[in-house]
Amino acid sequence: MSNALKVSGISKTYNAGKANALTVLDGTDLAIRPGEVVALVAPSGAGKSTLLHILGLLDSSDSGAVEIGGVDMTGKPDAERTRVRRQDVGFVYQFHHLLPEFSALENVVLPQLANGIPKAEAERYGLSLLQRVGVDHRAANRPAALSGGEQQRVAFCRALANKPKVLLADEPTGNLDPATSDTVFSALMELVRETGLAALIATHNPELAARMDRVVRLENGKLVAN
Ligand code: ADP
Ligand code: MG
Repeated sequence: MSNALKVSGISKTYNAGKANALTVLDGTDLAIRPGEVVALVAPSGAGKSTLLHILGLLDSSDSGAVEIGGVDMTGKPDAERTRVRRQDVGFVYQFHHLLPEFSALENVVLPQLANGIPKAEAERYGLSLLQRVGVDHRAANRPAALSGGEQQRVAFCRALANKPKVLLADEPTGNLDPATSDTVFSALMELVRETGLAALIATHNPELAARMDRVVRLENGKLVAN
């Protein structure tokens, strides 16, 4: 089966050519199949966020290739990268980054409208996602009225709203207390399992990492199997 996500030889140096140059990624390789959930583990500052942003087409690498759903994104024009990012990649941050002026449901509906889904259909699917992670009773509330765990559940739904091929999550429960982190992570895993997408989830938490299919560690700019 083809890979949902494949990266080869990804390198990234910040401030290249200057005295403070910092090589964060140094020829990193990774392949994830559809339905596979992979933990990305490394200490703070190792380059997890840098890698996730490059994989999510939010940033560019200096060299190497990123393939999403079998399509090599290297050298593709910005418009094509934006289209693939919107359609095929879901991104979850440590902080929810929901739009404060919109309700929970609207936050899940808006990305679908941007992709041309009719409003009634977008609302129906958005509500079904909120239902699956147990926050549909908060659909009409703005993010500020939700708890941290509820905010992250809504953020998961938003990330999955356009049925992406790949989910990238950057320490998605890192901002929650341990008990909430555990239940919110379970909700995320259920959602991922149901949709069958490929996921790469950065975490500091060894217990959460152990619940994924496999663990990769970012060491000296390269990914190694745990
Ligand atoms: P992690 O997510 O694992 O904590 P990051 O990818 O955020 O690591 O950062 C890796 C390293 O790159 C850190 O030393 C960080 O300070 C540095 N870094 C991140 N972004 C930039 C940037 N835009 N310019 C310069 N250095 C950066
Ligand atoms: Mg980070």
